[in-house]
Amino acid sequence: MNLDKPGQQALLKLAELDLEIAHLKHEIAKAIDNKQLNDLTEAQTASAGELLEARTRLENFESEVKRSEDDIRLVTERLERDRTRLNSTSSPKDAIGIQAEINSLLKRKDDLESIELALLQDLESAEAQFKQISAERESAQQEIESIRTSIQHRVDELKAQGRMASADREIVIAKIPKEVLSRYQVLAARQIAVGQVIDRACSACRMTLTVGAIDALTNLAEDQIGSCPECQAMIIQ
Ligand SMILES: [Zn+2]
Repeated sequence: MNLDKPGQQALLKLAELDLEIAHLKHEIAKAIDNKQLNDLTEAQTASAGELLEARTRLENFESEVKRSEDDIRLVTERLERDRTRLNSTSSPKDAIGIQAEINSLLKRKDDLESIELALLQDLESAEAQFKQISAERESAQQEIESIRTSIQHRVDELKAQGRMASADREIVIAKIPKEVLSRYQVLAARQIAVGQVIDRACSACRMTLTVGAIDALTNLAEDQIGSCPECQAMIIQ
């Protein structure tokens, strides 16, 4: 196959650019598939359920504390009414009855206050748990955002390099005859398409070549390209 020197240089450059573009695509895929980000996102999904549970538990305790406060208020109001009645009654029999009720209300109030105290402790620990899960989620979210931002920067950078390589590729392709380009495309679809004989080996497949093969390749005219007997890559001089 004939190809002048500038064409051969363009062909070699094309192979280099295609390798670079493939490498950049691989790097982009690698940057996007970030294990730390995947793990954090997965953990964040799992802890959303925990947060919901903690919030429900907290709200339940809040309602219970409120109910308990209502009960205590009712008992307190009734106690005040009974004390007023006690002070205003002139019947000793009524006074004994009212006093008995006051005693029982005091006992009831005492019990309700003990229940409320326990509930307040539960509420406090439910609050602490809810706050802890929220804080952990918030810090994980910040980490996720920061990883996403750095991935985006990396991908933008790689894409910019890719655009430059593609632009260079267009320039280089224009210098290569159609026939050579077709051959290149067939080869490039499955392997490194262009090589040189470097240290007695084909630089495309890295196989050491026989003396005969090397002679045949080096004896080609300057405007001819050979073919590697091992990998069929186009060999330029
Ligand atoms: Zn080869």
